[in-house]
Parts: sequence; structure tokens; C-alpha cells
Amino acid sequence: MKLHCIRCELAYGSDQIRYTCDCGGLLEIRREVRGHRAVFDERRANSRKPIDQSGVWRFREGVLNVDEAQIVTHPEGATRLYERDGIFFKHEGENPTGSFKDRGMTVAVTQAVRLGARAIACASTGNTSASLAAYAAQAGLRAVVFVPSGKISGGKLAQTLAYGATCLQVRGDFDAAMHLVREACDQLNIYLVNSINPFRIEGQKTIVWELLQDLEWDAPDWIVLPAGNLGNTSAFGKALREAYEAGWINRMPRLAAIQAAGANPFFLGYRESFEARHRVTAETVASAIRIGDPVSWDRAVASIRDTNGIVEQVTDEELMDAKRTIDRMGIGCEPASATTLAGVRKLRAAGTIGANERIVCVLTGNVLKDTDAILRNVPQEQIVEIDPRIEDVASALR
Ligand SMILES: *Cc1c(COP(=O)(O)O)cnc(C)c1O
Ligand SMILES: [Zn+2]
Repeated sequence: MKLHCIRCELAYGSDQIRYTCDCGGLLEIRREVRGHRAVFDERRANSRKPIDQSGVWRFREGVLNVDEAQIVTHPEGATRLYERDGIFFKHEGENPTGSFKDRGMTVAVTQAVRLGARAIACASTGNTSASLAAYAAQAGLRAVVFVPSGKISGGKLAQTLAYGATCLQVRGDFDAAMHLVREACDQLNIYLVNSINPFRIEGQKTIVWELLQDLEWDAPDWIVLPAGNLGNTSAFGKALREAYEAGWINRMPRLAAIQAAGANPFFLGYRESFEARHRVTAETVASAIRIGDPVSWDRAVASIRDTNGIVEQVTDEELMDAKRTIDRMGIGCEPASATTLAGVRKLRAAGTIGANERIVCVLTGNVLKDTDAILRNVPQEQIVEIDPRIEDVASALR
């Protein structure tokens, strides 16, 4: 297992603390993925060990070579796959801290402990910070998070503080916080666990592997996901390549990465066949993907190319409308997650996704992560203040 630069192919030992190559390129873990579907299925069905119940470590042969005793697991993953109106929804909001970030964090924090780190840090729009704080608490590490001041939801901030992290509220946007945390980790001997960290990507691959397992390894036509910092887009492509090479699936699903129109650099790049990297000043109601300069750009481009994938954008209105549909189905998700259904609607209307194709939308975060986004949009007749009198009840319900 080595860290390979995806730009110049230089390789580094996996126990070095390093996030990028000397040439500036992103690193990726390469290994031959062993492991068998039957073993994964057996662990899921019959074992009560936490590492087998974990939807990440159940696939450990493809995640990290590690002594089982060193694994820091809640356990996480093992989320449900819902089928509604002919579309599958993999609900990553059912993870321990309410977002898919736990799948990457269990691996990055396990690696941090192996490397002897004392403190870990990230820049975050709220979900990574909550996840980092929870896993740091479990592992006994100091947690430091960099968040754009005033730009993350109250629930995510409170959750991060509750688990005990030190919160640095950076006056600036996410991209400024991201630059700062990279500098801070280099200078202050803190281990960086943003998705630029290749071990995060290894954990997030299991979203795809677990949804394939949920479908009894019968690959869907499309996997649709929100795209912000592009860690997940990177992870999904890698997961599919490895699953195909290992023979777990016999055809490649296509990825559809969906951005908010106000935070769409990857969409702009896609439209020009990724000839140049784009940066934008990001603004969208979907705070989890309010990112203008995504760090995992090059890895994500490879994911789109290798899966014959596409990138689409949706407006805030379209994604909030889709969120309403997902919420009213009794499932619920945070705004960023609803870009998936909004994207499916748009891609079906354009004929890109066929009426009979099998689709899995990945819902990345829990409905309670952003209550403000809900309360700002409640129809007046749905919430009525009354005096404690039966006549008021009757008139409110009329
Ligand atoms: C982090 C996050 C995303 C974006 O994922 P990237 O890997 O940054 O592209 C989307 N939705 C939610 C809820 C998130 O927390
Ligand atoms: Zn390099």
C-alpha cells in the first residue's frame, strides 16, 4: 500500500505524514483490492463484531491494512437504502453524526492514531467538523476545526462544540478556512483530516460498496451525488474502478455529480471537457456544498472520465423543491443532499437519464442538520399559534 501522486506518479510510503506530492499533485492510495463478496455478505449477515457491523470496516481488505485492535469505529455506515417512486435513496444521514463524513473520518482517525498524532484538524462547512469532533473524542485526540464564521448551520456548530472540539471561526469563506488549515497543519504539527487526506477517500468508497451490496451486487445504471469539495466524487470513482477490477460487479454505473448553480466550478469545468480548473465565489442555500475552489479537483475529473459520468447544476429553488419532496416522503435530508433528486429530474427531462434506468441517489446529510433551511420555508397554514382552547384548534384545522 503506497501513496501515489496522480499527476507525476511519484510514490511515497503510506506512513509518511503528507497530503500532496512535492509537485503539488493530489495523492491516492493504490493497492490491489482483495476481499470477496461472500465474505462481506457473511460478516454483514452473521457477525456481531463492531468492525463487521461497520459499513466501512466490513470491507476492510479494500480500506486500510491495519491491526484490528487499532481501529477507531463507532461503528458507522450500515445505512438504509430506500426505494421510493422507482428511485433508490442511500441515506448517509443515518450515520452516527448524521452525515457520510463518518465513513471517511473513521479511517482518517484510525490512521492518525497509528501515526501517533496528538491533534487533528479540518476546515469544514459543518459536517466534517462534527464528525471529526466525535471521532477525536472517542480516540482521545485534540480536535481543532476551522469554519467560515457565521456560515455554518447552528445545529452543526452546536454538535461540533458538544463533542468538545475547539472551533476557530474564520472571518472569510470556506475556501479561506481551507487554505488556513493547510498552513496551520504544516506548521503546528497537527494531522489534517480534510478529504484532501487520501485515507478519508478510502473510507468514503464504502458508500458505493455498501449500496452495491444492498442491491445484491447488481450494479445500478446511475449513482447520483452532490458535489462540493469533490472528496466524494473522487471516492466514488475509485470505489467503482476497484469493485470492477476485483470482479464484485460486472459493469460500471455512471456517476452524475450535481452542483448548486451558485457554487458550480466543477460544472463549468465539465462543460469545457475539463480543459481548465475553475474557481468561483460560492453562494447557495446548500451550505454543505458552498465551496468555490474544491481541493479534490483532479481526482474527481478522473472519476467522471472513468465512469463515463456527467456533471449537472441545479438552482437553489430546484434543490429546495426536491428537498420538499424527499422530506414529504418521510425520509428527509439536508439541502445539499437534495441536489441529487433535483439533478435526476433535470437529467430525465433532458433525456440523459432514461425512464427505465436504475438510479441510486446518495442522501449525504440528515434532515436535522439544517433546521433554519426548513423553518424559513414553512407554509403559513402549517404552523399556527393558538390559545389553549378547543375552538382555536377547530378553527386552525378548518
Ligand atoms: C460534505 C458534504 C457534501 C459534499 O461532499 P464533497 O465530498 O465535499 O463533494 C454534500 N452533502 C453533505 C451533507 C456534506 O456534508
Ligand atoms: Zn507529483
